[in-house]
Amino acid sequence: MTNEPNHRSPLVHRVHLTAGSSERRLLEVESGASASFRDLVAGAASFGAALLAQGHIEPGDHVLILAPPGIAWARAFLAVLFAGGAVVAAPLAAPRSELAYITTDSGARLAIVSNELADELPAHLSKIDVASAIEAPPELPVIDAAAAALVLYTSGTTGKPKGAVLTHENLAAQTSSLRDAWGFAPNDVLLHTLPLHHLHGVVVAFLTALTTPAEIHMLAKFDAGTICDELSRVTVFMAVPTMYRRLLDHADALDAGRRDAFERACRGLRLATSGSAALPVTLAERWRTITGAIPLERYGMTEIGIALSNPLDPAGRKPGMVGTPLPTVEIRIIAEDGTDTDGPGELWVRGPSVMKGYLGREEATRASFRDGWFTTGDIAVRDEDGHVRLLGRSSTDILKTGGEKVSALEIEEVLREHEAIAEVAVVGIPDPMWGDRVVAAIVPKDGAASACTTDLLRAWAKQRLAAYKVPKDFVTMPALPRNAMGKVLKPDIVRALSQDN
Ligand code: AMP
Repeated sequence: MTNEPNHRSPLVHRVHLTAGSSERRLLEVESGASASFRDLVAGAASFGAALLAQGHIEPGDHVLILAPPGIAWARAFLAVLFAGGAVVAAPLAAPRSELAYITTDSGARLAIVSNELADELPAHLSKIDVASAIEAPPELPVIDAAAAALVLYTSGTTGKPKGAVLTHENLAAQTSSLRDAWGFAPNDVLLHTLPLHHLHGVVVAFLTALTTPAEIHMLAKFDAGTICDELSRVTVFMAVPTMYRRLLDHADALDAGRRDAFERACRGLRLATSGSAALPVTLAERWRTITGAIPLERYGMTEIGIALSNPLDPAGRKPGMVGTPLPTVEIRIIAEDGTDTDGPGELWVRGPSVMKGYLGREEATRASFRDGWFTTGDIAVRDEDGHVRLLGRSSTDILKTGGEKVSALEIEEVLREHEAIAEVAVVGIPDPMWGDRVVAAIVPKDGAASACTTDLLRAWAKQRLAAYKVPKDFVTMPALPRNAMGKVLKPDIVRALSQDN
């Protein structure tokens, strides 16, 4: 034990070196409460030491955190890391069955939970209030760089969610490469509006800013109006594509004065990034019309961190592409016959931010690595400049129809150009004749449903797509099913449409 929180973990070392002596602040936008990073780190060290001293946890334990984004959440998160535990990031607003699953699967020994959410967790799990005032002198353990720091559950768009275990080393490598690649500096202010149980919210946004140290303005939940007002006070905005769409739709309905202020705030941002799902080119262009640049799109995955990124310089960004590997990341694109190619093929990734494995699932871990490379399941192509374009996930987006292979993402990109279509997801419905029957689920724009018949849309699509790529059916929906990150849940659509047949 030491009374200087241990420095063998490069992440904990960095947090102390930067945030630990910084007057930069974490601000809760809705409540107006704020804490300096110095106080946050000191409070987390005392809290973590008290968790150990009072026997709530031991180093190496998994500790579930279920609390709204804000200062108390951040203190608990850092306290667990400082105490040598691993945070199990639990989703807010998840059904009790999912929380029970995560509790059991993660082997969590304790939950740090906000009062109003305590009953959502299984009764047998020990709980401590996220606002608890327990404190002890900060005598904290030596933490191995290879120790688990964070367990993140994968989106589970196929099968049961699996816990990806990220180590202190993984998180240090990830945040360091993003700080460099995206030019983070202490005069940055990040607007944080992403869920904290996903890589994007907790690592890419929160930890990257904290370890800069750059100020963080944190929203408890996404609200387009609040974001419009807050944008003028920040320099960096990170979002998923649906957030950009909701924000721009909201801004379209503002009166001229407020719209002007919104556009000025957008133009004043140093950096706006997009990820977690493909950024539609039409949406990127809407952002460009206002700011002069498309958002910086990057690609990552819970298991590997952010691997590919467009450049910081807007002139080098390519719409519809996810960029080139970050400096410490190596990639391969592997054709079906197992040879290296520029695509299409499966994207394989290697580097210091790649997880060691899934919690308690040796078989699944073994199956996802080949010769030390993580096999992403994403299908990619690379252009002559080394920029990568994603064609989608092999399991849900690469459709085999009548002997041809088609990319659902490519078809969606074309259909989004149609003036009556607000949102679209292309899926393959199992079909004895076609293999995958290509079907487009669409959400019509307000008042445009009559323009969205299969006949009209097929005729339009035939002018723009090879015949075998034109969806056989267009099915309208009031909204597409999405997870907390705005990712479309294609298996749900396939299930719903298969039942209809
Ligand atoms: P998750 O682990 O929940 O972050 O999901 C990772 C998956 O999201 C990846 O395997 C991709 O299929 C998808 N993804 C992430 N970023 C992008 C992007 N910029 N464009 C397209 N798909 C993306």
